[in-house]
Amino acid sequence: SVRAEAVRAEAVVDLAAVRHNVDVLRRASPGAELMAVLKADGYGHGAVEVAGAALRAGASWLGVCTLDEAAALRAAGITAPLLSWLHLPGEDFGPAVSSDVDLAVSSREHLAAVLAGARAAGRPARLHLKADTGLSRNGAPAAQWPDLLDAAAKAAADGEAEVVAVWSHLANADTPDHPSLDVQAARLTAAWTAARERGLDPIRHLANSAATMSRPDLHFDLVRPGIAVYGLDPFDRPVAQSPLVPAMTLRARVVLAKRVPAGEGVSYGHAWTTPRETTLALLPVGYADGVTRALNRHGRMKVLLGGALRPVVGRVCMDQVVVDCGDDEVRVGDEAVLFGPGTDGAPTAQDWADELGTIHYEVVTGVHLRRVTRVH
Ligand code: PLP
Repeated sequence: SVRAEAVRAEAVVDLAAVRHNVDVLRRASPGAELMAVLKADGYGHGAVEVAGAALRAGASWLGVCTLDEAAALRAAGITAPLLSWLHLPGEDFGPAVSSDVDLAVSSREHLAAVLAGARAAGRPARLHLKADTGLSRNGAPAAQWPDLLDAAAKAAADGEAEVVAVWSHLANADTPDHPSLDVQAARLTAAWTAARERGLDPIRHLANSAATMSRPDLHFDLVRPGIAVYGLDPFDRPVAQSPLVPAMTLRARVVLAKRVPAGEGVSYGHAWTTPRETTLALLPVGYADGVTRALNRHGRMKVLLGGALRPVVGRVCMDQVVVDCGDDEVRVGDEAVLFGPGTDGAPTAQDWADELGTIHYEVVTGVHLRRVTRVH
């Protein structure tokens, strides 16, 4: 196409950083296997590409939320053990069982639907029975656990299922000394012990990134880091103090640069006025790309352009932002970094999260990939 070279903005994903991060996590959890969590298209980084990098670096499992996400990995030829844990009413589990996708199960009804899929597929379903140990989200509460176990044990005896794991998810892992971590671990062990008492021999898994990096006593057989695989520190430590390397850089090129006299209002509402004659550069990204308008609500948004941090001035528009470059020379085609690993002085996803009052998870999954081109 004539526009093959013309991209609005790029989310550049550094797979060497992913491999480095998985290596860091492997070293932190030598006694456990590692499941790289790839939900939401690899937290916006590309599930298939990140899966390849993570497996190369020593991950031996992959984890996703939905059956669609699992199917996409299988369709890409990825054969590693793969767990899917959030299912929709009326879901058909047959294809997932056929393609060797392990399935989390949280209730008797959920189990019945999975077993119907196993019968359709003509092979046993691989189950990870999920205990709600204190997050009150997915998983069976303690009162329903014996019933779920009895049904799963019967399915195993009937050859319709294999109980691979008993597992749960932590509520406060980013506060490693929070008392709820020990409570959740004890409840998981009780749930696992009850499974063993029924003759089952499942593995146990509980730890996300934060627990993988800070609570070796909670690693059990398998750890499930997500955010740290992408290099974002689960404790929000600055890049220089974290062993992780952020993998995603969001960048765009200047489409227009011009001198503007003093006293000119800039962008909608004239929230900013040129205090002197200056050079303004236009970047072709805005809130429709995920560069959310609230980022410059307090006039603090900056980009790295021409080796310097420069302020975005005025309101973020749907497709554009304006950058004040003072008297420095800026040319059409110059590259601006909106966020990146932070090693070159550019803002980080953590900086965006701080400004927005959210977490870096939401920043990287909030880049709108219908408009922003992802590059690996
Ligand atoms: N396990 C489950 C069940 C999850 O939902 C998630 C993501 O929230 C993870 C593991 C990975 O968590 P984190 O990204 O905090 O490492």
